[in-house]
Amino acid sequence: MISPDAISRMLAAEQERFIAANPRSASLGKQAARHWHRGVPFHWMLDWGTPFPLFAERAQGAELWDVDEHRYDDFCLGDTGSMFGHSPAPVAKALREQATRGLTYMLSTADAPVVADEMAKRFGLPFWQVTSTASEANRAVIRWCRGITGRDKILVFNGCYHGAVDDVFVDLRNGVPELRKSLVGQVYDVREHTRVVEFNDLEALEAALATGDVAAVLTEPALTNVGMVLPDPGYLEAMRDLCTRHGTLLVFDETHTISSGYGGHTATYGPMPDMFVLGKPVGGGVPCAVYGFSAEVAERMERVRAEGESGHSGIGTTLSANALALAAMRACLTKVMTPEAYDHMLPLAGRLAEELRAVIGAHGLDWQVVHVGARGEFICAPQAPRNGSEARAAMQGPLEHAIHLFFINRGVLIAPFHNMTLVSPATTDAQVGRLAATLDDCLGVLTA
Ligand code: PMP
Repeated sequence: MISPDAISRMLAAEQERFIAANPRSASLGKQAARHWHRGVPFHWMLDWGTPFPLFAERAQGAELWDVDEHRYDDFCLGDTGSMFGHSPAPVAKALREQATRGLTYMLSTADAPVVADEMAKRFGLPFWQVTSTASEANRAVIRWCRGITGRDKILVFNGCYHGAVDDVFVDLRNGVPELRKSLVGQVYDVREHTRVVEFNDLEALEAALATGDVAAVLTEPALTNVGMVLPDPGYLEAMRDLCTRHGTLLVFDETHTISSGYGGHTATYGPMPDMFVLGKPVGGGVPCAVYGFSAEVAERMERVRAEGESGHSGIGTTLSANALALAAMRACLTKVMTPEAYDHMLPLAGRLAEELRAVIGAHGLDWQVVHVGARGEFICAPQAPRNGSEARAAMQGPLEHAIHLFFINRGVLIAPFHNMTLVSPATTDAQVGRLAATLDDCLGVLTA
């Protein structure tokens, strides 16, 4: 239905349009290239597929402006870092207040008990720790799980992403575990200690756990980093049972699925994991993350600590739980990530999914729109994927690149890596309507 020629034509036209419309970004790009490697302070900023990097000027709520004064409807929201809107007023206020009173002391503050009480109530796990990023929280959790079980293996699912965590960069290709190509410079074979199976395959999971040497299953309750893969009905409960039966700890990384509902996917749909990770938006975009755990896990941690030297080298870093991060988390959890916020996000995300489906159908395309809570994903293929292999097979690189560039040139941002759309408490009906209308225009050109 969409020819390679149509894609190439759109890419060429949109690249030209972007270049003409963004002189200030072009100029800043040249200046930045003097000393930033590849022209950006962080290499992911090149992943948008624009002819040169786009430079942001400011953002508020679900809107963003670039340095050439284009306004964007932001459905990327910093790839979830700003899931609850850019610079929410309570977080900005807390940051302003804390900023003049010291940023980091390596001491706890009065915000700490409020934050922990809130998390225990909301997420249902009694004990918590803070790190600086979700990647770091996942690394800490893997260390703890191996430490307290005395087992060396972990298990992840094909297509997973949990941040800069070397242990999990293992994919299945034609059923065979392979190291992810991006694992530059890693000198030991992480497959020795990491098993990988397909999501939604209970038999494979059971076989991998049956050997009794797996410390933890680490997963998102729905995979959100390889397109979107939802759990089959009953799958997560069965996973919970298998973990319990085989003495394996279950870890849910809810860094993205916090958008599934108030209290994350866990509180909304269950089941309860042994450990829980949340990063990115928990401080409104200030770098911080948390991990929570059950009373039983806490007791086992204490046993390990009692056996060894005091302290836990390799878990946590100097700025973990700094005063600024605690202030941001307190404001974000208690005043921004509220039930009322979800009451706005969830129905609007449902509407977005419906509108995108209608647009796709009107163009005679048999693409899928998958969504859970405030997070959606349109998939340029006829079947919603049930696992990582299917999700990878559904990806359409050049087509998706062309769509993304068309969107950017018309003031719409979606996550650059795949076709993910996030609805924040600040997102409006009008913005949802504009995204659907922009997809309609885009598909009109592609199918002409
Ligand atoms: N876990 C999940 C599920 C993620 O999607 C990500 C980032 N995309 C991370 C962890 C890592 O987050 P960070 O890059 O902030 O460490």
